[in-house]
Amino acid sequence: MSKYMSKKYDSLEAYTPGEQPRNMEYIKLNTNESPYPPSESVIKAAEAAAGKLNLYSDPECRGLTEMMAGRYGLEYENVLMTNGSDEILNFAFMAFCDEKHPIVFPKETYGFYPVFAKLNGISYKEIPLAEDMTVDFRDYCGIGKNIVIANPNAPTGTAMSISAIDEIVKSNPKNVVIIDEAYVDFGAESCISLIKRSKNLLVTQTFSKSRSMAGARLGVGFADKELIADLNKIKYSTNPYNINRMTMAAGEAALADDGYYMDNCRKVEATRERTAAELKKMGFTMPDSKANFLFISSDKISGGELYERLREKGVLVRHFSKPSIENSVRVTIGTDEQMDIFLRAVSEIISR
Ligand SMILES: *Cc1c(COP(=O)(O)O)cnc(C)c1O
Repeated sequence: MSKYMSKKYDSLEAYTPGEQPRNMEYIKLNTNESPYPPSESVIKAAEAAAGKLNLYSDPECRGLTEMMAGRYGLEYENVLMTNGSDEILNFAFMAFCDEKHPIVFPKETYGFYPVFAKLNGISYKEIPLAEDMTVDFRDYCGIGKNIVIANPNAPTGTAMSISAIDEIVKSNPKNVVIIDEAYVDFGAESCISLIKRSKNLLVTQTFSKSRSMAGARLGVGFADKELIADLNKIKYSTNPYNINRMTMAAGEAALADDGYYMDNCRKVEATRERTAAELKKMGFTMPDSKANFLFISSDKISGGELYERLREKGVLVRHFSKPSIENSVRVTIGTDEQMDIFLRAVSEIISR
């Protein structure tokens, strides 16, 4: 840190993204990307938009915002498009939290939440998961603080029901409840339907996982009009042209091709169930996943060692050194072919 860096960031530990190797020497199962490419029309739309990069993009992102509202049965004013969902999450921390308005989230969850809190000088509390690694909604009912929960949760993959989320939202009317649905398209239930009768619910989603656009950076928030107006105030105070032209065009084309992406999600789900069954035969245990990854552990091998051995065999998975989860690794669901290579590698490693 230089002597010029503000002291207010002394205790800030930045988020560590999963490895992005420079060449394709690995089977990449470490950052929950889609193994399936964007559809042809998405590639064409991005290329066509590139010819107008001399012009600023539409700060309102009108076309895409209208399409998203239509896709989820909401109004235009209920939707805000952002530069990845990380951006809307940060906007929400900035808009709704401060020293006097802390936020709570599960102890084992998306590693960015504590980073956003520290970045913005917000106090936070972490609530341990239940014994079976699920998020117990009762821990959040009537808690009287802002709340962010990933549903399905990461890195565990478990999901809560809409009625559980409804209980959390209704029992905390003075606070904002953020439900991060980054993985909802892989078999969980979205709680977007609650927005019409909830003033205090923000639902975030992303095009990074189920819509094969991690590299384009496109996220979205759905909420009551007043919450969206608050978030727009933050957006227009930080980065009005937050979505570039190519991403905007690609996002519109992706929504027009919704069937292709939802079919890919069904493929990922089938591959996930098959992979889980094979791993269980080899003695692995894991929470029931509704996401595009499995969080696996075995008493035959530590999480750290499994990560290392897989890496030597050309398969990248994600290992977290946080003590409560250091015995597991998170494995993104790739294509069937990739998972066969992964399963063979695991089998060799544990039978050695
Ligand atoms: C991947 C992920 C996000 C953010 O993804 P973006 O690429 O910024 O849209 C948000 N929340 C969770 C839980 C994630 O895993």
